[in-house]
Amino acid sequence: MSALLIRQAELATGRTLDVRIRRGCIDELGVALEPAPGELCLEAGGGALLPGLHDHHLHLLALAAARDSLPCGPPKVHSRQELIDALRAVENASTERGPHSGWLRGLGYHESVAGRLDRWKLDEWVSDRPLRIQHRSGALWMLNSAAVRQLGLEHGELPSGAERDARGRVTGRLFRLDEWLGARLPATPPPSLKHVGRQFARLGVTGLCDAGACNSEAELRCLIAAAESGDLPQKLLVMGKPDLPPSSHPRVTRGHVKLMLDEDHLPAIDELTAVIQRAHADGRGAALHCVTRAELVLAAVALSSAGCQRDDRIEHASVAPPDIVTLLARLPVAVVTQPNFIFERGDAYRREVEPHDQPWLYRCRGFLAAGLPLAAGSDAPFGEPDPWAAMRAAVVRRSAAGFELGSREALTPEQALALFTSPLSAPGGAPARLQPGSPADLCLLDRPWSAAREELTADAVLTTLRDGEIIWRRDE
Ligand SMILES: [Zn+2]
Repeated sequence: MSALLIRQAELATGRTLDVRIRRGCIDELGVALEPAPGELCLEAGGGALLPGLHDHHLHLLALAAARDSLPCGPPKVHSRQELIDALRAVENASTERGPHSGWLRGLGYHESVAGRLDRWKLDEWVSDRPLRIQHRSGALWMLNSAAVRQLGLEHGELPSGAERDARGRVTGRLFRLDEWLGARLPATPPPSLKHVGRQFARLGVTGLCDAGACNSEAELRCLIAAAESGDLPQKLLVMGKPDLPPSSHPRVTRGHVKLMLDEDHLPAIDELTAVIQRAHADGRGAALHCVTRAELVLAAVALSSAGCQRDDRIEHASVAPPDIVTLLARLPVAVVTQPNFIFERGDAYRREVEPHDQPWLYRCRGFLAAGLPLAAGSDAPFGEPDPWAAMRAAVVRRSAAGFELGSREALTPEQALALFTSPLSAPGGAPARLQPGSPADLCLLDRPWSAAREELTADAVLTTLRDGEIIWRRDE
């Protein structure tokens, strides 16, 4: 690990200093430091030097796999005809898209495209090969009849989560059955994470938290292999199932037990409390996925009776009216939100979310005012992976069409940046400080913060370093 001198970088204090990096850590800060023999020099030219950004909630393997899938919803596909055209285009292409032998996979579907989908509707568009389309919520797969047959869904016992219609017929709609599905689909090699790692390095991201509820030994092995090979140069925190083993790689840490709450199938409170307590007994925090009011209330009550710890987190907290925020604020729990959804999904929220709930969508300022530790993650591939776009959304609170949503929740650019700079292990905690002894996980911009804060664009990222190693630079 070679020594590196970053010259003339603007720090958060507003001072412009030289920063020496040795053995992966910040070694010295000062004015006009002399380069040591053989030391690499990086001219910052007054650009802001920030802590490396952390995406506190995303799904790495799904993001990598999304590259081999057909987008089936906004912003790529908006109407029934566009969806049909996209499916036909793949059908007509002689080369198979994606690694699945014969299987066609679509992602990101939303009912605004062509309404509720079931096997019969899908059969009208694709009938000769198995097709599965995932809803953009990530909770639902919709299969055509060829897929239903291949999976043997019409015979034998149906897994709970597979829908039947009033006449008892299998509709091809599978709720929260990723694991069941994964075990029955043709085996495929795990997707490469190289593109994903590079994409995040370009955005100034040095740490990622994989929030997959189904993560188990196989997924962990895959992520460790990507860290080992350098495909994923970032530090990783990996959530998952209760049986997720500890990590053997220094850059990969086992994280929380991820618990999915689903309003239609909420667990009994005692049951949920016991699961949280078991996570604690294993030395792990609990991360509870909550998107509705009811899910959030249940999470707050269960965490409270389980003996909530600082390591526990609420993922999304999509709808958080003041009375529930008050409940949460009594606990040492952190909230990990997705301000990018205000931009990406805001126009649909305006149509679909009850008007009295709209001010409480993906709140930011309200959580901070209540004293809750608050961090953000993209939820990629269900959201766009660019943290800068998410910061902009947290500041301007506008949908893609330009409508304001929860404008009282707007943050300052500095607060928006802080959503992405707290430690991976303590989302919403104090942002990493650039001082001697800190790991040199850094994001260097091509402009001072006074200019960067106005635009909050990924275009400003000049160089990204993890443990003092350059993992991306613009001129390469
Ligand atoms: Zn997620």
